Parts: sequence; structure tokens; C-alpha cells
Amino acid sequence: MSVLFVENLRFLDTTLRDGEQTPGVSLNPDQKLEIATRLADIGIDVIEVGSAATSEGEREAIRIIADAGLSAEICTYVRALKTDIDYAADFGADSVHLVVPVSDLHIAKKMRKTRSQVSAMAYDAVEYAKSRGLVVELSGEDASRADPMFLQQIFSEGVARGADRICFCDTVGVLTPEKVAAYIPPLVEVAPLSIHCHDDLGFAVTNTMAALKSGASCAHVTVNGLGERAGNTPFEEVVMVLEVLYGYRTRIKKEEIYHLATLVSRLSGIPLPINKAIVGEMAFTHESGIHAHGVIREPSTYESVKPEMIGRKRRIVLGKHSGSASVEAALAEMHYHTDENQVKEIVKRIKQLGDAGKRVTDSDLMAIADAVLAVESEPIIKMRQFTAVSGSNMIPTASVTLVVDGHEMTGAATGDGPVDAAMEVLRKCVADVADIRLEEYHVNAIHGGTDALVDVTVRLSKDGKIITSRGARTDIIMASVEAMIAGMNGLLREEYENRGKNPR
Ligand code: MN
Repeated sequence: MSVLFVENLRFLDTTLRDGEQTPGVSLNPDQKLEIATRLADIGIDVIEVGSAATSEGEREAIRIIADAGLSAEICTYVRALKTDIDYAADFGADSVHLVVPVSDLHIAKKMRKTRSQVSAMAYDAVEYAKSRGLVVELSGEDASRADPMFLQQIFSEGVARGADRICFCDTVGVLTPEKVAAYIPPLVEVAPLSIHCHDDLGFAVTNTMAALKSGASCAHVTVNGLGERAGNTPFEEVVMVLEVLYGYRTRIKKEEIYHLATLVSRLSGIPLPINKAIVGEMAFTHESGIHAHGVIREPSTYESVKPEMIGRKRRIVLGKHSGSASVEAALAEMHYHTDENQVKEIVKRIKQLGDAGKRVTDSDLMAIADAVLAVESEPIIKMRQFTAVSGSNMIPTASVTLVVDGHEMTGAATGDGPVDAAMEVLRKCVADVADIRLEEYHVNAIHGGTDALVDVTVRLSKDGKIITSRGARTDIIMASVEAMIAGMNGLLREEYENRGKNPR
């Protein structure tokens, strides 16, 4: 069965408007510009950069982004009000997403108006926006619960008054593919139609795809599915469903998707769910023995999407499900040369750790492999002394003396807190030897209480190589320092070996 989509499907990204309405998310104009630039680069057609009526900062962001000369159309959300439309035009937007409530529920309860009052407001707003030189996308809020006859009427008249496009908003995520098949086809006859879905029941991508199959020409999306409540339709999922499952060629630079996802996650402060499709940490991670074995031999056995397509890499992690094939692959990547019996013994120890409920990190594997192979590996970085101080009237400060490859070095640094200061001073000391970056920092308290064992995991990288290491202590600062030094030793060891020192 082949599906016909319109030629040149378009994407309107509303990460900076609906996405920013995610509770707790607030982006400053510089951050918005950084995201908008990426969105334009990746191939988004229209960027909804905010809602001009919200605040001065919001308007400043619209101005900065409109002035940046991006390839995308710059759009802003407006209500059917002259003041909103004036803001949009005055601050340099190309187009407006003109949102008008269309369900009787919204018209009566929220607006306290009648259908004819709301229609009149909509038509006046369309005409005014056109007179101010704006492209107009007339959008029906809560369209899925509106009377289809009324919807048809308000869109048709709106287009007659000058609206360039129309948009069907499933504002509270109650659409189904069956309703889409009934409502959308007559509307796409009126004007180019956008579909705007929310994921309250997990149907956002399904409904968006159904609308595109019914002739909608533009999908409203957000990066990582950010948005109010359960969020909007995730950009990355719609793109990959179109490409991988329907063979539709979008104009999106897919290899940039992961980079964009992590940028938005970092700037918005909303972490990516680890099992999120396409961009979650585990989306291309394999642990179980049989699966990992299959993937190592032929990736397509257990992968429907190639990680490289979106700028990612496959990851094999070890745990109690790991078989010898994945352990061997991981060991080879770390330049260990093992025989069959040694691998067997290493697998056995990994399973013991897994049975104890532990994740096996790269540094765990190294420690196990070193023990099994009886490798004497003198740590390259040793700690002589460490002090961290903080208090109510001082800047948290840490100092450390390290012995790095036989040379003693001492340093001090300040930070936002004692842990931050500790990480900073270690980084500073090691910076002379190697460019090591801290990618991630996680703390887990094991059981409650102030005397709980604190388990710190850090991910460090150096020239693209990543290592995960752990420290566990009752003292969070010492646990962090221990994890950091273990990781640095792991990363440096290989380099020193490559230089011919400390041969294995
Ligand atoms: Mn919305």
C-alpha cells in the first residue's frame, strides 16, 4: 500500500513557543537565537519563536531572531487582537500563527463569547494582519472538539479575507486517526493545512502522520516533543517515521538531529527520557546477550534505524544479560588481548556485578579485566592531598595536589559549590596533560539518611573517547573526586600505552 503525501511537506517548529510553555522552561533571547539558528540549519521551514504579547524579553527574542537572516520563515503566535498583531509586525516577524478558539467549550467558557463574535474577531484580525504585510496561518484552537461545519465555515471565510494557510489544533490531544480521516480531507481543499497535535494520550505522532496522509502539508512539531503537559509532536519522530517507514524524503539534515536534541535538552533543562525514541540515551544501546551478539554481526537484526543516520553511535553496554561476544567486543575496543578462558572469567564477574543490581561501567570492566589478566597498572594520576571548603560567607574553594605521571602539581579553584570547585580544580590540574571534558555527572544516594552511601557516576571524554566511572563514599565530594580521578586514569592509560609506556 503506498501512501501519497503532498510534495514538499513542511515543518513548523514551535519549540520556542509551545515548547517553551513546558512548565519550568524559560529561555533567554540568546538561547532562543542559538536554537533558532540550529532549527534553520537543519531545514525547518517555519520557526514559531514565541508569543509577542507575553513579555518584553519575548519580543526582544523575536527581534533578534528576525534580524539574524535565517533561511526559515519567522513566525509568532498572536491572538485575534490588534495589539498582538502590531507587536508581530513591529518586531520583524514574517508571519503570524493567528489562534482562534473554535470549539463551543472554548468559545463559551474561555472567551465568554458567541460563535459569530469569535468569527468576526478572526476575520478582522486576518485582514489587519494582511494589511501589516504578514503571512497569516489561521489556526483553530481545540479544533478536534469543534463542530466540523463551523470549522469549515470559519476557515473558508478566513481564507476569503486573506489568510494564507490554516491550522487544525488538537489542543488537548483527543484526536484519533479515524477522526483525522473524517475531518481533514474537506479542510485541505480550503487552503494549505497544518496539523498541530499534543501527546496527552501518546497519539501525537500517530495523529500527525494520519493528517499528513490525509493531505495536510505542514506538521507542527517541537524538538524532543517539548510542550505543555505531555508535550507536542516530536520533530525527530515524525521525520524518522516519514523517512524510514514511508520512504518519504524530507529535506531535513537528519544527521544533525541528535545534536539538536541534546542542545535543546541542555538549554531547556528538560532531560531526555532515557528510553525516548530516536534521541533517548538507550535508543541505540544494547545489553542483552543475544541481541548484542546479533547487532555486532549485522546491525539490522535488532535496529530499525541506523544510529549514524541521526548522528549517533551504537553502544553495547555490559550487564548480567551480556554474552561473551559483547564482552569480547568491549575488551577489544579497550585494546585488551584476551583468550577464551579469560573472557569466560570476565563474563562471570560481570554477571556477578549485574546480579547485585549494578550497571557495569567502562571503568568496572577495566578493573575486572586488569584483575583477570593480572595486569599491573600503576595509576597515572595519584592524589596527594585534597581540601574543599564552603560556608555561608565564602566562595566554595577546593585545592588539590596530584602526582601526574611522576610530576607533582598543585592547584586551587572556586565553584558554585564544593563539588563544582573540586571538579574544576581537577580539570585545571589535568588540563596541562590532556584535554578531558566532564560530559555528565549523576548522583545516587543509596538508601536514605544523611549517612547514606553516595554513588557518583561521571562521564568523561577526551578526543571523542568516552569513559564512565564511579565513586562510592558517604562523602559526596570524595565520591565525586574518586569518580573523576578513576575516569581520568582510564582515559589517560590508553594514551600512555600508545606512547609505549606501561605496556600490557
Ligand atoms: Mn499547542
